[in-house]
Amino acid sequence: MTTATMLEQRLPGQVTVFGPDFPFAYDDWLRHPAGLGSVPRAAHGVTVAIVGAGLAGLVAAYELMELGLRPVVYEPVRIGGRLRSHEFAGAEGVIAELGGMRFPVSGTSFFHYADRVGLDSAPFPNPLTDAAGSTVIDIAGQTHHARTLGELPPEFAAVAQAWDEALEQIGFSAMQDAVRARDAGKLKRLWNELVPLWDGRTFYDFVATSACFAKLPFRYREMFGLVGFGTGGWDSDFPNSMLEILRVVVTNCDTDQRLIVGGVEQLPRRLWTLPASERSPWPAGTTLASLHGGVPRPGAAAIRRRDDGAFLVRDRWGTSRVHDAVLATCQGWLLTTQIECDESLFSQDLWMALDRTRYMQSSKTFVMVDRPFWQDIDTATGRPVMGMTLTDRLTRGTYLFDNGPGRPAVICLTYTWMSDALKMLPYDVEQRVKLSLDALGKIYPGVDIASHIVGDPVTVSWEDDPHFLGAFKGALPGHYRYNHRMYRHFMQDALPSAERGVFLAGDDVSFMPGWAEGAVQTALNAVWGIMTHFGGAAHPENPGPGDLYDKLAPVDLGE
Ligand SMILES: Cc1cc2nc3c(=O)[nH]c(=O)nc-3n(C[C@H](O)[C@H](O)[C@H](O)COP(=O)(O)OP(=O)(O)OC[C@H]3O[C@@H](n4cnc5c(N)ncnc54)[C@H](O)[C@@H]3O)c2cc1C
Repeated sequence: MTTATMLEQRLPGQVTVFGPDFPFAYDDWLRHPAGLGSVPRAAHGVTVAIVGAGLAGLVAAYELMELGLRPVVYEPVRIGGRLRSHEFAGAEGVIAELGGMRFPVSGTSFFHYADRVGLDSAPFPNPLTDAAGSTVIDIAGQTHHARTLGELPPEFAAVAQAWDEALEQIGFSAMQDAVRARDAGKLKRLWNELVPLWDGRTFYDFVATSACFAKLPFRYREMFGLVGFGTGGWDSDFPNSMLEILRVVVTNCDTDQRLIVGGVEQLPRRLWTLPASERSPWPAGTTLASLHGGVPRPGAAAIRRRDDGAFLVRDRWGTSRVHDAVLATCQGWLLTTQIECDESLFSQDLWMALDRTRYMQSSKTFVMVDRPFWQDIDTATGRPVMGMTLTDRLTRGTYLFDNGPGRPAVICLTYTWMSDALKMLPYDVEQRVKLSLDALGKIYPGVDIASHIVGDPVTVSWEDDPHFLGAFKGALPGHYRYNHRMYRHFMQDALPSAERGVFLAGDDVSFMPGWAEGAVQTALNAVWGIMTHFGGAAHPENPGPGDLYDKLAPVDLGE
């Protein structure tokens, strides 16, 4: 049994990504022996263009193949999208996760697929966890070493307590209990009250106006921004809608996270070659790869609707193909910048939502090192020479990855967001490494990190890549309605016929941006939408997200 298998089997009372906006049990739907549903025979082989070979695109393509449809995947770059694992040249299996890298155990649908393709996982070395070993917090010129929160100066515990109390004042435990109990009614009652209250207010507003923080000096707020909760610094999220943060904490996305051994890009890649199950109408052994002759079609350059209602997708090299439906999983901005789309495909309200989407910027720079030298003990202090590092300096977060004895190790020298990421944007990889080493040199004056570097460093700025334009959505105050318009779009019965048959899925559409679980859940919504578009239905004993939509629908704030 892989560790993914263990994680896929939800424990009773476990907090999972169940809502809070749309508390549908995707993991139960996926695990049910009846499968996700079926389409009439006449629909077998109809083609669905899937724009984007990231996780959402591959999950949807795989499940549509299971139903007997023919997914046709378009992708300009490589399979994986924002699950991109860079393998260092000459060091097999030594990787840098340039996109998603830590996966909360509460993401049970994500782990369902990780298990299907046989991936293994291990605890992620987050600050102050056993997996990190040693954590170093360097703020305002002061450096603290600790293994647990209790080993830090008492101000840090006071900050953690203020955060817990502030959350409690808006009903945190009651919401988590409802998530644990899978009590959709109770969760909706609690969550739906918070949505209008907090859609228009920022995370910073929450912190600054909370009585729990107000009684503490300002510098505690700075510490909170730096050390935050769970994974480290959260001050880059201060301008975001507070709803974004509440979703993360209520569903435990910030705690108990795992990495995928060998790199998470293996998940979409293995879905590409995973044979359809015996239930599928396709012949035994059919895979997405075999349906495509091994490689996806080139990136999409245009999506048009013909007079007969079918779709015409033109690829970047000029070939047009006719499809019966389209599923777009790329970032929404690309539908106005990269892909010529008939404006009539979506309502003006939906175009507004797609175009107003706001992306977070993010940069990471990694080096491979000869060995996990950070575990060497400094004889003067008796401590490891380096630790997992959070700082207010340029690098912000530094993560250390030990690949086991006799293998090169990896350091994520810097992981930054928003304005910290923009500081790196103009610089090439070499300059970014130098800037990072300089900042880390002030925290670790006696450690010669550069002397351990081997191979070529690697860096990424997602906002600088024309196929992404940003790391992922970070909704601003007032964006709930935009998210709602995108999310509910898979329910197409009430749409004019000119807007049916083209679907959206992926991180942008999700209420949980920045988490692969959200990409999977929205892909499953689209699968339900496409299945019913072609006259199919979920099994009566295993209703899908659309069957329960009216009961569970995200609260409508009205336009
Ligand atoms: C820096 C960073 C850190 C993250 N950290 C985490 C984390 O720790 N944990 C977690 O769970 N999640 C994390 N995420 C989020 C996670 O990576 C995403 O939720 C998930 O990968 C999104 O998958 P997707 O399929 O929706 O989109 P994508 O992966 O973006 O897939 C869309 C695909 O569309 C393609 N495309 C673009 N243009 C076209 C075109 N013209 N035609 C066809 N295809 C096109 C793109 O190349 C891409 O492959 C992180 C993301 C980033 C960027």
